[in-house]
Amino acid sequence: MKQFDYVQPKTMDEALASWEPGASWLGGGTNLVDLMKLGVAQPQRVIDLTRISDLGEITFQQNGSVRIGAMVSNADLARHAGFAQHFPMVAEALLSGASGQLRNMATVAGNLMQRTRCAYFQEETAACNRRTPGAGCDARDSDEEARALLGASPACVATNPSDFCVPLAALEAQVEVRGVNGTRQIPIAEFHLLPGDHPERETALEQGELIVALHLSAEAARFARHARYLKVRDRTSFAFATTAAAAALQMEDGIIVEGRLALGAVAARPWRVAEAEALLVGQAPDAALFARVAEAAMAGAEAPVHLEWKIDLARRTAARALAMAAAGTPARLPALPASPFGQQNGDLAHV
Ligand SMILES: Cc1cc2nc3c(=O)[nH]c(=O)nc-3n(C[C@H](O)[C@H](O)[C@H](O)COP(=O)(O)OP(=O)(O)OC[C@H]3O[C@@H](n4cnc5c(N)ncnc54)[C@H](O)[C@@H]3O)c2cc1C
Ligand code: SF4
Repeated sequence: MKQFDYVQPKTMDEALASWEPGASWLGGGTNLVDLMKLGVAQPQRVIDLTRISDLGEITFQQNGSVRIGAMVSNADLARHAGFAQHFPMVAEALLSGASGQLRNMATVAGNLMQRTRCAYFQEETAACNRRTPGAGCDARDSDEEARALLGASPACVATNPSDFCVPLAALEAQVEVRGVNGTRQIPIAEFHLLPGDHPERETALEQGELIVALHLSAEAARFARHARYLKVRDRTSFAFATTAAAAALQMEDGIIVEGRLALGAVAARPWRVAEAEALLVGQAPDAALFARVAEAAMAGAEAPVHLEWKIDLARRTAARALAMAAAGTPARLPALPASPFGQQNGDLAHV
């Protein structure tokens, strides 16, 4: 293994002062340490953020918005009763990710920053523009299934694997980041970058900046009664999404007054299409409407012949997530959250 410095700052100022080019921030380590073992990540210095206590708070403000510290674990956030009540589909997405042990370690910031699961990215000997700019892309002509259907470029066809980020996109979360020049907020829609000619640039973070918190507005909680996350995967117990969708509706007298839809595992960032969401407004929920919205959300999708089924699966996932949201958020999360085997009417499955 390549040698590296390891530092453990106790304050944000110490953390920022210890950054240097080639350094990596360390959260729970469930992604970074794996990539270091594979030789894919080779930081000169690892800056462990786990001792900075003010990064670990979940704070509801008077106005109902919530600020979630970067080092809050995925498990603690999902199980926070007030949070799950206001933002149930975010909790559902968190609980559908990874395993219980991983969620205990994984942090909010680490989840936002996790790298793609493209098999060629993780294989040190493969050509990968994201890992080594200009090297080529071995995934493009392969049978890799974790492949973008939307927003890909000739340089990179990787997807973002996060479940958590999909409902965050639907609810328009803000990412609070800090660097030596101060603090700023980045809308989640602008946080993950599409690959273009520079797939090595994955997020809007500048050199030396780190995530300090995530914000969800009080307005985002207006969807709480009709909000679901649906994840299709090879094993319901433990696998990354093949396709996923977060659907949130605001309904009055049986009519949809506002709708949000974000798709996961189909692009290098969670995918939202305003034109598709607009089709929901003023309509009564029904299967034909949701099929039209899903079709519009996937407009422009492209896949090689062996993956055309994934376009159809993504549409079906979106339409079903909308139907589940229309049926209403269950009072308790299902035992296997975000499972396609769950009931549309919110009844608990697998209990
Ligand atoms: C076997 C397995 C299965 C998994 N399944 C799923 C799944 O189904 N769904 C899913 O969504 N995820 C899944 N994951 C991914 C998991 O969610 C991520 O590994 C985890 O969220 C990363 O969080 P962490 O705190 O451990 O990050 P780390 O590994 O510590 O860091 C990850 C990245 O974030 C950066 N980073 C950490 N903190 C900060 C910060 N404050 N500011 C800026 N950058 C920072 C690090 O430098 C690194 O690049 C799985 C992981 C494994 C190993
Ligand atoms: S798809 Fe992207 S991450 Fe995968 S090998 Fe190609 S350049 Fe690398």
